[in-house]
Amino acid sequence: MSGEGRAGAERDSLRPDLVVAGAGGGLAGALRAAELGLRVLVVEASQHYAHGNNTSMSTAMVPGAGSRWQKEAGIDDSPEIFLADVMAKTKGNADPAVSRALTGVGARLVAWLADYVGLPMELATDIPYPGHTNFRCHTVPGRSGTKMLAGLIAKAEADPKIDILAPARLVDARPTREGLAALIEFPDGAQEAIECGSLLLATNGFGANRELVERYIPEIAEATYHGSAESRGDGLRIGLGLGADADCLDAYQGHAALAVPYATLLGWATMMHGGILVNSEARRFGNESRGYSEYAAEVLAQPGGTAIAIIDEYVFEKCQPFDDFRATVEAGALRWANNVEELAELFGLDGARLSATLAEARACSENGTEDGFGRSWWPHTLNGRLGGVRVTGALFHTQGGLRVDEHAAVLREDGTRVEHLYASGGAAVGMSGHGASGYLAGNGLLPALGLAFLAAEEVARLAGRVS
Ligand SMILES: Cc1cc2nc3c(=O)[nH]c(=O)nc-3n(C[C@H](O)[C@H](O)[C@H](O)COP(=O)(O)OP(=O)(O)OC[C@H]3O[C@@H](n4cnc5c(N)ncnc54)[C@H](O)[C@@H]3O)c2cc1C
Repeated sequence: MSGEGRAGAERDSLRPDLVVAGAGGGLAGALRAAELGLRVLVVEASQHYAHGNNTSMSTAMVPGAGSRWQKEAGIDDSPEIFLADVMAKTKGNADPAVSRALTGVGARLVAWLADYVGLPMELATDIPYPGHTNFRCHTVPGRSGTKMLAGLIAKAEADPKIDILAPARLVDARPTREGLAALIEFPDGAQEAIECGSLLLATNGFGANRELVERYIPEIAEATYHGSAESRGDGLRIGLGLGADADCLDAYQGHAALAVPYATLLGWATMMHGGILVNSEARRFGNESRGYSEYAAEVLAQPGGTAIAIIDEYVFEKCQPFDDFRATVEAGALRWANNVEELAELFGLDGARLSATLAEARACSENGTEDGFGRSWWPHTLNGRLGGVRVTGALFHTQGGLRVDEHAAVLREDGTRVEHLYASGGAAVGMSGHGASGYLAGNGLLPALGLAFLAAEEVARLAGRVS
């Protein structure tokens, strides 16, 4: 239900137990809270959130260790193994409480998305994601965040305990005797204070706020930003204003394969199925199987800040499950060549150099050897017709934010809670440590959905709705 025109008096009579600011991953919190009997108001800044926020732009990969899908597939996994992966990828820098809570809740969350929300969850077992010991990313057909979000929105809209107010922006919050007052601003500039029991900041990070990105993550400040325009850092600002602490503000998810100039996501399945990246000198410049987030800065460091992703028909077929990949092809970003020389010509590369680069990669693949960059993942040898896509490195979203505990409750510097305040997703400290290299596939959505889910359970517990 949208309700821009809803009268203040009417809304007062429906004082929400929980206000959720942000209808992305925050909807998991709204739904879980309503399921536990709480009255929820979702305030969402953008009218176009169903197609414009980060959750909608994602490839919908949600990690869950020890899930029933894994058991059915004979995969022996556990939260402990997942936590060890997180700590290995972040070199021990991920927030321990948040990482433990999220690796612990992942399997339960995925089951809830399937059983309560009704999403057709499945386990992705076609490619290993760098850093994950086991196949543990669960997704929806099409691997489309838009489809995942559509399911959450439909369930929330059908729930009589949930009211969605959009467009309406949370601009501030202040403590009241019994909770918090959320200050909401409407597009015409009118403001309204809504009293609530608790407030969940699910407004994402500050990727769209150039000044904050320059301040906290200068290494990616010049990159194309490929995330929601609404990620202005509102949650961070409001939380800090209420006395919260913040951490890991230099953490971000980059991506090394955004097609240019199309601004569509080619996706890293291209590399994990056997593709390579070359620069304008027709040379490879690193280990493509290392992780797409940290590789973004490496692509940006190449001449012109771009690279050419090279695949063949086998890789092309393997990437078909991804809506994003197909959209990139439909946009015209993929150009086919009958041989190496033709490919070199298409992209203005030196033909002899490109032939040598491909020959080296093929030799490693055929012999199963590690190359000079440390790449030993060669599931396929590129052959036959070759396709190329010009790509660049992009900033997808920021990963650091307000410090929270294992229940997503926002913390002060001294470790005490900021009463009634919760944070999730990009607004909260995540589980990626510092910089870009701590990011594991799925570690954007898990804090988004998982912290919101845990926050809802804590609000319900404190309200005496659950033990
Ligand atoms: C292209 C792309 C692909 C990705 N793929 C994956 C993936 O496969 N797996 C994964 O784990 N992560 C992935 N990520 C990251 C993941 O999408 C995000 O980490 C996650 O969706 C963040 O959820 P969120 O709820 O914090 O933010 P969002 O989904 O962006 O939701 C925040 C909402 O808050 C609203 N808002 C902002 N400010 C206010 C305000 N002041 N008041 C009210 N509303 C406000 C916004 O309009 C928005 O709707 C990807 C990101 C991108 C960009």
